[in-house]
Amino acid sequence: MQLLASYLSGSWSPGSGAKATLVNPATEAPLADVHTSGHDLASAFAYARTSGIAELGALSFAQRGALLASLAKAIHGAREELLSLAVANGGNTRSDAKFDIDGGAMTLSYYAELGAKLGGSTLLADGEPIQVGRTARMGGQHVWARRRGVAVHINAFNFPGWGLCEKLACALLAGMPVISKPATATALVAHRMMELFAPLLPAGVLQLLVGPAGTLLDHLGTGDVVAFTGGSATARMLRGHARVIEHGVRLNLEADSLNAAVLGPDVDLGSETGGLFLADVVRDLTQKTGQKCTAIRRVLVPLGKEEAVAEAMRERLGGIAIGDPSRDDVRMGPLATGAQATDIKAGIARLAAATETVFGGTGEVTPLGVPAGKGFFVGPVVRATKDPMNCAPLNEHEVFGPCTTLGSYDGTAVFAAAFIAKGGGCLVSSAYSDERDWVSAFVGAAAPWAGRLYLGSAKMAAQSPGPGTALPSLLHGGPGRAGGGEELGGERGLHLYMQRTALEGDASVLKALLGG
Ligand code: NAP
Repeated sequence: MQLLASYLSGSWSPGSGAKATLVNPATEAPLADVHTSGHDLASAFAYARTSGIAELGALSFAQRGALLASLAKAIHGAREELLSLAVANGGNTRSDAKFDIDGGAMTLSYYAELGAKLGGSTLLADGEPIQVGRTARMGGQHVWARRRGVAVHINAFNFPGWGLCEKLACALLAGMPVISKPATATALVAHRMMELFAPLLPAGVLQLLVGPAGTLLDHLGTGDVVAFTGGSATARMLRGHARVIEHGVRLNLEADSLNAAVLGPDVDLGSETGGLFLADVVRDLTQKTGQKCTAIRRVLVPLGKEEAVAEAMRERLGGIAIGDPSRDDVRMGPLATGAQATDIKAGIARLAAATETVFGGTGEVTPLGVPAGKGFFVGPVVRATKDPMNCAPLNEHEVFGPCTTLGSYDGTAVFAAAFIAKGGGCLVSSAYSDERDWVSAFVGAAAPWAGRLYLGSAKMAAQSPGPGTALPSLLHGGPGRAGGGEELGGERGLHLYMQRTALEGDASVLKALLGG
């Protein structure tokens, strides 16, 4: 069986000690082993701090962008192979796998183009020059300069390709070397990407630790950054880690999120906006088996529309084939790991005790093309609550799988925004309405509780990717429960890896520093 090595200090390190086995979550067939320890992480950090920092310091934004373009090209060249690995190791249908792999390549290409636009400089301007002296000769200018440290990236199991690429794109373009750690259970895609990327990048710019983190965090120091995506318990541990506190390590956390979708009071289900709402809710239940951090977990519809929405969902979900995702006729695969299946079944049971069934019971399903008793399968589940605002299992626990819950409201923007807030801070929430006054009142009240608000309407319906797609040009992250982080968002995504410095001096010198 394949043994997945880590790529550290410029070579492949197999590790040593006990092994973990990566499996196909549809069949539980073993795919690869990984050693759980035995890597020289002190040397890996030293390599990044010397070679990686020096190599990137010699490159302008445009030159770093060209490196990103070469990585995107490498993904395109090995696309079919990467899609097959995502299907085998991630429980992805081919369409789910494209979301991860093509999304990764697209994000690299976006930041490659941004690098080309930023050109020959290594500093970013923050705002316009300002006069701070008696005359215009004495100026002030805020700039962003790269941080001198290592960016440690810890990724979740659900997007091994996109997660690697979206964090790498911003750090590399900003000028920081990266040590990336994919989630162990689904590391095959990230491992193959590292094999493709290693010959294309200067020494020390990207290293990959496959397997548990071990002592990774014990090597953090001043100037370093940790960008994490995963569960809130791990996020809490990171917040309190002694090295993070002692060295002021910058931390970006993307954690749990109870995203909501609200149907506006003006929307008829048969209209274009109503169709968009239903398509988005159903897509988020089934795409990647509901294992997207941005998926809709809570649905709010105006009083009197509950049954029509429930009926439309039953109709759409009834025809979805569930089973081995390598089959062409299967639309939804298994959960990514056995541990996730256990957690999700427990979450559904907690919800079931406080809600009524609309579709799918508690997720029992007989999957297509899978040996009896094998695979980590849960079918799509829709629950309903009569009191969405006070349903604690709904508003306090994220069920990270194919499960969503319907509730009704009085149609006011105030109630809708208060329901979004009840999730304690989310990555994204959506509202569907063609009434501009309602949308305006909703945005004003809901914005503090969401990193992104998706405003579904008839005018944008035909070109919408849905709220579940994180775009490189818009922020990804959210307040409160969602971790308080910010990634992507165009040039903003670079700021995590840069220090903002106020410069004051001769205005013409300041202008020249920024290439003016
Ligand atoms: P997790 O256990 O927090 O794992 C996330 C990453 O952290 C993995 O790479 C994991 O490595 C690593 N990790 C775990 N313990 C660590 C430690 N002590 N030090 C350093 N790294 C450590 O979360 P998960 O199992 O992937 O997902 C659990 C929950 O995360 C989900 O149920 C969902 O609520 C949430 N989630 C959120 C997002 C988002 O974008 N906001 C995305 C996915 C999941 P190993 O795999 O080697 O343990």
